[in-house]
Amino acid sequence: MKIVEWHVITFSIAMFAAATGIFIYLPSISNISISSIKSEAPVTIAINIDELCRVDVKENKWEYVVLHHSATNEGSADNFDKYHREKKKWKHGLAYHFVIGNGNGSGNGEIEVGDRWKKQIHGAHTANMDLNRISIGICLVGNFETDEQPTNNQIESLISLVAYFSEKYHIPKSRIVKHSQVLQKGTACPGKNFPYKQLISEVSALQPL
Ligand SMILES: [Zn+2]
Repeated sequence: MKIVEWHVITFSIAMFAAATGIFIYLPSISNISISSIKSEAPVTIAINIDELCRVDVKENKWEYVVLHHSATNEGSADNFDKYHREKKKWKHGLAYHFVIGNGNGSGNGEIEVGDRWKKQIHGAHTANMDLNRISIGICLVGNFETDEQPTNNQIESLISLVAYFSEKYHIPKSRIVKHSQVLQKGTACPGKNFPYKQLISEVSALQPL
């Protein structure tokens, strides 16, 4: 597909999403407001993390949060699911439990919930299967090794999501880690420009564990 066509499609999806309120969830205790300072017309997104993370099955005992980037400029949970299912031949598809969009391929700051979270099963996001069984894998769309930082919306969504997990599963900040901190073989994920210190400091302010 030509790049121009892809941008038109991405834009159309974004407009459709904005028109239908697809990124707006019901209010609750975990409400946050996000103002996009990058777009011309600032959009306020209220995300109900509690509602978003609710599952119909018995919850797993999550002990870690592992942070990733997609190492692509655009993408969505569906894109990565297809790649992991068809190219990597992973039966459960999407390796992560959550994907946070950057506005290219999915909403800017949109939190997409993967099937592995809905089923409360292991991820496939690190080389350590023992860790995959007890860690929540969150992937931000973008390449923060070669490009700039995540968007403000992505950071806001990530902080809210991680603070929520920290509180709910009693996960201390020492167990909120970058992929590069846990993989045996070298990886830059989630990239040198990923604002890890900011994340930990803001999550600690919200949820001191
Ligand atoms: Zn990673």
